Amino acid sequence: MQKTEITKSVEETFELGKRFGESLMGGEVIEFIGDLGAGKTSFMRGLAEGVGSDDSVSSPTFTISNIYSGRDDLSIHHFDFYRLPEPGLVKEQLKEAIEDPKAIVCVEWAESVHGVLPTDRITIQISTIDEDTREFKLKQA
Ligand code: ADP
Ligand code: MG
Repeated sequence: MQKTEITKSVEETFELGKRFGESLMGGEVIEFIGDLGAGKTSFMRGLAEGVGSDDSVSSPTFTISNIYSGRDDLSIHHFDFYRLPEPGLVKEQLKEAIEDPKAIVCVEWAESVHGVLPTDRITIQISTIDEDTREFKLKQA
């Protein structure tokens, strides 16, 4: 299944993330693909709101992983493996999150952990069309 959406502002990206977040039930693994500034964090902010979280979402580039809590005991585990070729312990944390049916696992820069991601993950690929326009390709294997 594949779907393409265009957003024309950061607000539209937030709304797209929010609608997507509302559809999540726990147990999903979502891989984000897109350059710096593509809109991964902006989409994640909407996603978290859609899952009913009031927690503030920030790029976990330096902390590697953030956890936000949402509705119905759901938690969002937000990982960022940017410039982390040897994920070590965080990879173990990622595996645990993937096994948790109440966890929604979101991963940015997943190259170094592809081996532990399930093949039926959702992939969200974001391309920059121009300054304010982004294309989102949502794919589920
Ligand atoms: P990433 O996490 O992928 O590095 P961010 O979400 O942090 O990206 O940043 C995206 C940047 O692009 C923000 O400065 C945002 O204001 C800007 N932007 C412009 N248009 C859009 C759009 N349609 N969707 C998302 N962000 C946009
Ligand atoms: Mg980011």
